[in-house]
Amino acid sequence: MKYIDEFQDPALAARLLDDIRATVTRPWALMEVCGGQTHSIIRHGLDQLLPEEIELIHGPGCPVCVTPLEVIDKALEIASRPGVIFCSFGDMLRVPGTDRDLFQVRSEGGDVRVVYSPLDALRIARENPDREVVFFGIGFETTAPPNAMTVHQAAKHSIRNFSLLVSHVLVPPAIEAIMQSPRCRVQGFLAAGHVCSVMGTGQYPELAERFGVPIVVTGFEPLDILEGVRRTVRQLERGEHRVENAYQRAVAAEGNPAARRMLQDVFEVTDRAWRGIGVIPGSGWRLSERYREYDAEHRFQVGSIATREPEACRSGEVLQGLLKPHECEAFGTTCTPRSPLGATMVSSEGACAAYYLYRRLELPAREKETSVV
Ligand code: SF4
Repeated sequence: MKYIDEFQDPALAARLLDDIRATVTRPWALMEVCGGQTHSIIRHGLDQLLPEEIELIHGPGCPVCVTPLEVIDKALEIASRPGVIFCSFGDMLRVPGTDRDLFQVRSEGGDVRVVYSPLDALRIARENPDREVVFFGIGFETTAPPNAMTVHQAAKHSIRNFSLLVSHVLVPPAIEAIMQSPRCRVQGFLAAGHVCSVMGTGQYPELAERFGVPIVVTGFEPLDILEGVRRTVRQLERGEHRVENAYQRAVAAEGNPAARRMLQDVFEVTDRAWRGIGVIPGSGWRLSERYREYDAEHRFQVGSIATREPEACRSGEVLQGLLKPHECEAFGTTCTPRSPLGATMVSSEGACAAYYLYRRLELPAREKETSVV
């Protein structure tokens, strides 16, 4: 398949690995920002093929994982209300809130529906004018444009029984927060290619300069990731810290201007809490004043919510790259994809789920004994 098979070519991968081996002279810690990249790395064993000097630290770029517990609990509260049709992508249904998830709300009679596009939710709103239809709009800069377009369409066609529960987060402030953490070990970043395909690369040179780190825009196939690592290591070995685009087949420097205009029209920047990490200033979007009536939080006036994270879950450390998933005591024992304690075990992009899917049988003896559930 074009753009898939050709970027999984083993001979080319071997050449890139040879180049990396010939370049590296000392230990380097690189962070891949996106959960999709983490899955590709673990699935293809790329971290095991790299020279031992190179450590890949898994970053916080899993949208399901960083959606704060308070927002999950608000979704559960809204979805439980009579007359509401609550629409979401399927991966949010199993994410645990404080004491239940959306599957449980559905089993208790809530009208929770899986959709494949926010426009499906808008269609449901048109077809059910006497019901309130809410779409759960989460994710990074990648998923925000269709959500913005849907709200724009709702306003344009005066569909007033539609609203968006918004929890959008932004990558550059997260990179800034990671670099400012006293425990940070990251020396270079593989930036998320799909985020840059929307937003462009303009926000990164200032970060690279301020923190003295190379930032290489990287794709998701094995060759993309090895090329991202190769370029990052080459800069580090030369003492450079620039932004490079290693994903030119998808990313233009200016991103997608039409999508950016739509985002600017519909959203405004706000502080956001990241699950397991805390509030990062200016790290999210909410609906702008002009579209505030489509904001589900505003419409449903969900009261104060008391949240409670499971004590055993260390997903905050996993998301900051401070802990590998299998180092968590609950990994593969009390926490599995079927019975997850934290969102990083639920999402298809979560690091804990990636380790469970592809690594649990390779773990050292103690973990191996307890991980096969
Ligand atoms: S393995 Fe489970 S409990 Fe541990 S950090 Fe991951 S999601 Fe949380």
